[in-house]
Amino acid sequence: MAFTPPIPCQTGVRLADHVTLGVGGPARWFADAVPADDAARAVAAADAAGVPVLVLGGGSNLLIADAGFDGLVLRLADGGVAEQVEGADVIVTVPGGADWDAFVGWTVAAGFAGLECLSGIPGRVGAAPIQNIGAYGQEVAEAIEAVEIYDRDARERRWLPAAACGFGYRTSRFKREGRAVVLQVAFRLRPGGAPTLRYAELASRVAGQAPDLAATRAAVIAIRRGKSMVLDATDENRRSAGSFFLNPVVPAAALAEVERRLAARGQAPEAMPRWPAEGGVKLSAAWLIEQSGLARGAGEGPVGLSTRHTLALVNRGGATAADVLAFAAFVQDKVRTSFGISLEREPVAAGF
Ligand SMILES: Cc1cc2nc3c(=O)[nH]c(=O)nc-3n(C[C@H](O)[C@H](O)[C@H](O)COP(=O)(O)OP(=O)(O)OC[C@H]3O[C@@H](n4cnc5c(N)ncnc54)[C@H](O)[C@@H]3O)c2cc1C
Repeated sequence: MAFTPPIPCQTGVRLADHVTLGVGGPARWFADAVPADDAARAVAAADAAGVPVLVLGGGSNLLIADAGFDGLVLRLADGGVAEQVEGADVIVTVPGGADWDAFVGWTVAAGFAGLECLSGIPGRVGAAPIQNIGAYGQEVAEAIEAVEIYDRDARERRWLPAAACGFGYRTSRFKREGRAVVLQVAFRLRPGGAPTLRYAELASRVAGQAPDLAATRAAVIAIRRGKSMVLDATDENRRSAGSFFLNPVVPAAALAEVERRLAARGQAPEAMPRWPAEGGVKLSAAWLIEQSGLARGAGEGPVGLSTRHTLALVNRGGATAADVLAFAAFVQDKVRTSFGISLEREPVAAGF
């Protein structure tokens, strides 16, 4: 490829060292701590030359190919936050390269409600809108006011209001289209606001305490730690991408089929967890995996299910991306054969 990146880049950087699953080959060009303007310039140059681009955050939702990424990988710079009071709310604008959980910790310490349930999620701020991160009763879309992107088609920087971001369950127009670099995110938060306690396990953990943001954040992190869902270098399940499969949203006919199969196995269909969702009924991917015969810790090779969370695929050490894909296909096959449901992968694949 005859391409000279217009910003300083390293070559041959091993991407396995920059993603939480710990798999993936080298990047052809790798630029770190890139300021927004330089990122826009570099992506424009790569697009003009037909060079593939991967914007990397914390690498906690990425599956990189063993062959690596034959293009430009760039990671945005961190920077300060800007605050602006608007009526009873505060609008906080944060660079895409900022660490997500450090930012959430800052909002909680400042007494700004709106993100407390999203404590402990790995990654960077710029990735949060990509799949509309969610956990324990909150989704980031609820708190996003606007997103500043570099639009790779229009070749310009611009702000999009939340309503134009196409947010859905673990998705957005950014994830669907892959044509935007998220440079900054503006959040609308509630100074002195009460924590969101919609999630039963979380509400019961903080019951009896004054329902403040700090207690809620601490409870979320404690619950997550129990499921190996925080990054912890001492945890045997540390090499994962979090939940590897989305909870399937199925139409009535597919739900009836799952219920029929459960009944045929002598199981009570009502025992299956489900939630109303746009476009159908949302089922629990973890429950389906367990009922298809795979318990936590299942898997003989270098990749298996987390010992603490059925939905997380774990690189137990020395795995390749091919191993991860093979084990994922094995799990998907078990669920499809048992219930006729196809589980979809959550992490983004790059370099394949
Ligand atoms: C232990 C663990 C627990 C997790 N728990 C949760 C959870 O509770 N809820 C949840 O929703 N997710 C969870 N995740 C998934 C992951 O942490 C989130 O999706 C997170 O937002 C990814 O951030 P990142 O910076 O690591 O993104 P990366 O993994 O680096 O990137 C993910 C995708 O976003 C793109 N991207 C990243 N930054 C930008 C940017 N600035 N502009 C454009 N595109 C960009 C990448 O190109 C890629 O396509 C978990 C992951 C792990 C490992």
